[in-house]
Amino acid sequence: MKTLRRYDKEFHFNNAKALIETGDSQQLRYACLEMRMLIEAHVYQRLLSEVDELPKSIINTWQANKAVRLHCEFDRYADMDMHLEIKNPDGSDLFDISYHNLKKSELNKIYNALGSYLHLPMPEKLESYVIEKESISDMLSKLERVVSGNLIINKVKYEAIECSGCGKPIVFTQYYLETHNSITCQNDNCKLEYAIHDKGESVELSLDYRGFSCHVCHNEISLPYSKIADGFNFQCGSCSTDFKFELQIRTETPYPE
Ligand SMILES: [Zn+2]
Ligand SMILES: [Zn+2]
Repeated sequence: MKTLRRYDKEFHFNNAKALIETGDSQQLRYACLEMRMLIEAHVYQRLLSEVDELPKSIINTWQANKAVRLHCEFDRYADMDMHLEIKNPDGSDLFDISYHNLKKSELNKIYNALGSYLHLPMPEKLESYVIEKESISDMLSKLERVVSGNLIINKVKYEAIECSGCGKPIVFTQYYLETHNSITCQNDNCKLEYAIHDKGESVELSLDYRGFSCHVCHNEISLPYSKIADGFNFQCGSCSTDFKFELQIRTETPYPE
């Protein structure tokens, strides 16, 4: 537990609060920096608690908002509040602890808004540029909830298979498989993309996509996932009919009258 204290949310929260209270625009800017660190402390503390299990692609993502978005692809509870109640046999309360989280959309919004104040204004906006104390203060009050409470994790099971390209593990969860059509090897030097095939009871990862059938012989055509791109030529393995991918753009909504 000692290592979790390396991320001190309260420290950054208090710094931001003091800076906002005294706030001229320079201090407000530093308050934004403290609030970004508060968000990072919140996110990294959560990641650190499962650092040995999570895919490297999440752990190595330094922008807290992107790390959360990726984490949520594997763990549906990653951006949720948690509440744990333990009662005595007589029904009276023994423990009642809560973990306060930020939904990924809210976190992303605040993280980006704060980031925009960490830069000098662009020439076009120089004249009108202000850091509004009220909006900074508003963001801090939205972040306040993550400072209190204790980290609670609903453990999801991470599994891994060996990548046939690089030999490193590809980490996944059942939730990820259920909600995606493909998975990319999380080794930065490899990044091979595998199709996820649902075979009823079990799931299989394969480098081949099997979504097409030949319109001449009606047999299934398998293709390396990485080759699915505009202009790629291929043949049906059974009857040798030639095919080519062509990118088509269709409008989803009717043309305006
Ligand atoms: Zn790989
Ligand atoms: Zn064919």
